[in-house]
Amino acid sequence: MDGEKKIRLLDLRTGEIASFVKELGMPEYRAKQIMGRLLLGDDIGDMTSLSKADREKISSVAVSGIPEIVLVRQSKLDETAKFLFKLDDGVLVEAVLMKYSYGYSVCVSSQAGCRMGCRFCASSGIAFSRNLTPGEILGQIVAVNKYKDIKIGHVVIMGIGEPLDNYDNIVKFLRLVTSPEGLNISARKVSLSTCGIVPNIRRLAEENIPLTLSVSLHNPFDSERSEIMPVNKIYPLDELFKACRDYVKTTGRRVTFEYSLISGVNDSKRHAEELARRLSHMQCHVNLIPVNKVKGTGFERPDRTSIERFAGYLEEKGVPATVRRELGRDISAACGQLRKSMTDEAGNPAVIHDGNPGNA
Ligand code: SAH
Repeated sequence: MDGEKKIRLLDLRTGEIASFVKELGMPEYRAKQIMGRLLLGDDIGDMTSLSKADREKISSVAVSGIPEIVLVRQSKLDETAKFLFKLDDGVLVEAVLMKYSYGYSVCVSSQAGCRMGCRFCASSGIAFSRNLTPGEILGQIVAVNKYKDIKIGHVVIMGIGEPLDNYDNIVKFLRLVTSPEGLNISARKVSLSTCGIVPNIRRLAEENIPLTLSVSLHNPFDSERSEIMPVNKIYPLDELFKACRDYVKTTGRRVTFEYSLISGVNDSKRHAEELARRLSHMQCHVNLIPVNKVKGTGFERPDRTSIERFAGYLEEKGVPATVRRELGRDISAACGQLRKSMTDEAGNPAVIHDGNPGNA
């Protein structure tokens, strides 16, 4: 059986691992042990509570699915680190580790490349190759935990890809992350960011996973938003806001709106006022992000005074807003900057790293 056809254990819930080992003639209770070791980032060969024969039997039909770390870039300014992973079929994706006062948070990728085409985002410049499986998304967290010997407490799905364009895998990933048999991270400590795929925002509201929904807004006018975010042509603002209001109603959770400020594009008083008008009476929060530089886009961030003025307009109208603090500035670890900086023109890792923390 070749590598690609093998089962990826990290894609499975404990019950599914139980059926799998049973089929191989092993007792079902092994499933819990296997899951425990997988979540520690161990490969099948390291699972010494299993006999050598059992490990071999499992390895002949399955792989652990822990992604290989091929490059780590550590910020010199703060504890931010960017990880480049190689998946089973050689596909490359990135994750970012951040340290906050409340603990470690990891930003994971949900797809290899992105189909959404947002004009300000580096991930739009990567050809879409495929969706990531639940285990490939989970594996990014597990691998970072093991590499740094830490315990990640918060997860943000804001890396490469559009999570709601990979719906079923994302929902299974969320269950693996939040369930007690999985990583047992509270859903309240998980944020999912979407450019606004309305039908799947509605489906997500019904999943009973109390995560924080972040919606990438970036412009309160349909015609202007469509220019920078093609998704708006399919799901325009009225539909998007209606889905967000319904999301708040169904889940009792407030929605966060991401607004990347771009000088001369969406940072005027006119924009702030329309944004406030659109958001009035909604339980929400606005995250203002000075746009991060991405080569070839020509977009620049406004100066400090303009950013504060924009935040001030929103506050005057009673819309809670914060300007996001930047981490990992020296390693292009910020929103919209993932993947390209770590790879050369052909998409290969710029520097191969052996995954040893001592060499990070
Ligand atoms: N596809 C999802 C998640 C990935 S992007 C989404 O669109 O939400 C994560 C966040 O970074 C989004 O809010 C996105 O709009 C924002 N972003 C992308 N490029 C950016 C840039 N150059 N500067 C600032 N924010 C950016």
